Amino acid sequence: MSIITDVLALLETVRKKAEEINDSKISAELAALQGAIMKLQQENFEVIMENQELKKQIQLLHSIEVHENNIERSNGAIAKYRKDNKQFMICTNCWDSNKKIIQVEKSDSNNYRCPNCDNYSYFGDKQIHIDYNNSNSNGSEWPF
Ligand SMILES: [Zn+2]
Repeated sequence: MSIITDVLALLETVRKKAEEINDSKISAELAALQGAIMKLQQENFEVIMENQELKKQIQLLHSIEVHENNIERSNGAIAKYRKDNKQFMICTNCWDSNKKIIQVEKSDSNNYRCPNCDNYSYFGDKQIHIDYNNSNSNGSEWPF
């Protein structure tokens, strides 16, 4: 039983005694006081609910921060995710937009595909190297 419920029960007892002695003025004031305390009880309930929600949000933000510290980003939209001596590649599109850790599938030499959002990207620095001394060169990925 909360303190507010105890106070309301005491007030009800006192209000009944005021009715027994036919003191309508005190009885009316006690009824008003009961109403104010019931309103306070409702506000207290709302604050408790809001506090629980805020605690959940803080926990979620902390969890996001922990995950973010495990993520190694690159120029591409694929990142390395490290946790408990394990490492795998994840989709930064899914992480940045929905805070989902989605492991990507290796598609070819340096590219990965996300099974969740279909993001197709790479990890690392991807630069095109053009060999100007070779007219047949159509460029190649760097590092090569
Ligand atoms: Zn994705």
